[in-house]
Amino acid sequence: MTSILNADLHCHSVVSDGTLTPEALAERAASNGVELWALTDHDEIGGQARAAAAAKAVGMRYITGVEISVTFLGKTVHIVGLGIDTDNAELREGLEQTRGGRRLRAQDMADGLAKVGIKGAFEGALQYVGNPDLISRTHFARHLVETGVCKETNEVFRKYLTEGKPGYVEHRWATLKDAVGWITGAGGMAVVAHPARYKFTPNEEFALFTEFKGHGGRGVEVVTGSHSAAEYVTYAATAQEFGLAASRGSDFHSPLESHTELGTLPYLPGGLTPVWELLATRIQ
Ligand code: AMP
Ligand code: MN
Ligand code: MN
Ligand code: MN
Repeated sequence: MTSILNADLHCHSVVSDGTLTPEALAERAASNGVELWALTDHDEIGGQARAAAAAKAVGMRYITGVEISVTFLGKTVHIVGLGIDTDNAELREGLEQTRGGRRLRAQDMADGLAKVGIKGAFEGALQYVGNPDLISRTHFARHLVETGVCKETNEVFRKYLTEGKPGYVEHRWATLKDAVGWITGAGGMAVVAHPARYKFTPNEEFALFTEFKGHGGRGVEVVTGSHSAAEYVTYAATAQEFGLAASRGSDFHSPLESHTELGTLPYLPGGLTPVWELLATRIQ
């Protein structure tokens, strides 16, 4: 398969912090011309069977997916797993463990918000949660927009939910080694999600890719909704430097909030190995 493929291998449903069901996403992806699709909910594979069935119903190829939260050098890094066996026991346990702290963290976030006069944010955020195990900052952001504290979710993150802000809570997610291990142990390919988002120094970024490869990681997102056109070029070079396959995905969450629509990003640049070339046997 060539790099000229409308593959969208990163998006979220109500099973994590998206607002559409797996079925609605499949229809939306297909009508936007997506030829190969993966649903990659945060720390959760509960939507995979529905997504695969919905893809089949609309005649679109599917590959299983997940996006695992990792702590690396004190920052949260996301590792996408593609082509995973969703029945794999170690992967399932690892994800359950990763989800485990979310509820307590959310209560601490609400306590932080209460201190600056925003009461009842935990209960408020819960109203937006499709999956009670997967309460995320996004759900707090929706609640604070809905109650008029901020105009849009981006503003909530900027003022309340990022490092140093009242609703931000330090949290330790999975290790890089564990997340890559769970994915590869389940027959999948680990891919560094949206690397430009982490704002690592060049040395830190070198450490990330070196350790990621050392643990068996094989891919990097080059074309993603989180990257600028200049960053496509930067991370195409990273893929070549580290011998990683390249991925493409919108990171679509919601028709109202997402700036990138499913299946509408530019194709992968030439001269790279697309992840789907190495995952051919895992495509449904
Ligand atoms: P959590 O896993 O609970 O820390 O939430 C992280 C999620 O928040 C990400 O997956 C995004 O969906 C969302 N997010 C992070 N930063 C922003 C931002 N600046 N604006 C809107 N959504 C964001
Ligand atoms: Mn998200
Ligand atoms: Mn992410
Ligand atoms: Mn994502």
